[in-house]
Amino acid sequence: MKGYIQVYTGNGKGKTTAAIGLSVRAAGAGLKVFIGQFIKMGDYSEIKALERFSDLITVKQFGKGRFIKNKPSPEDIQSASDGLKEIEKRIKDGEFDVVILEEGNVAVSLGLFPEKDLLDLMDTKPPQVELVITGRGALPSVIEKADLVTEMLEIKHYYNKGVVARVGIEK
Ligand code: ATP
Ligand code: MG
Repeated sequence: MKGYIQVYTGNGKGKTTAAIGLSVRAAGAGLKVFIGQFIKMGDYSEIKALERFSDLITVKQFGKGRFIKNKPSPEDIQSASDGLKEIEKRIKDGEFDVVILEEGNVAVSLGLFPEKDLLDLMDTKPPQVELVITGRGALPSVIEKADLVTEMLEIKHYYNKGVVARVGIEK
């Protein structure tokens, strides 16, 4: 089966949950999924849930778990670029059918790895691999290269009323 490149971006809710939903669907079909999470570190509920599918879905976090305000630290950069290299290797080894770069768009916008490295990965992925890149602020070059781009458009979000991320719903 030919694999395509998908991007879930925009400010509205649903990017990460769309990627998790796709992972579960893929696992239902017996496909092997790798989820590489940039920036984040910690026991998000989706990671705990996906442990139940550990024979088919592998999750790895490449974040330091600290909030990156403007300038990432050398450690933030190191762990993200190590992550990208690992993902590159795993993709080329042909271990996985679906590969998700969770918060990949944010990682590149924050300068955790160069735009070119992400574009190269998109160019060199084996034809059968489905690649999904999530996160706000997808770069024009990434949008251009992708086959499918969905923008989650925020019409309303309770975040604006001061409701922060809730366990089981947002994290
Ligand atoms: P979900 O994980 O529910 O699918 P998402 O992946 O689309 O959502 P992210 O962009 O990853 O959402 O947002 C992560 C968190 O940022 C949200 O769960 C929310 O608590 C918070 N958030 C939402 N809107 C804003 C905003 N306008 N500014 C800053 N933070 C926000
Ligand atoms: Mg998200």
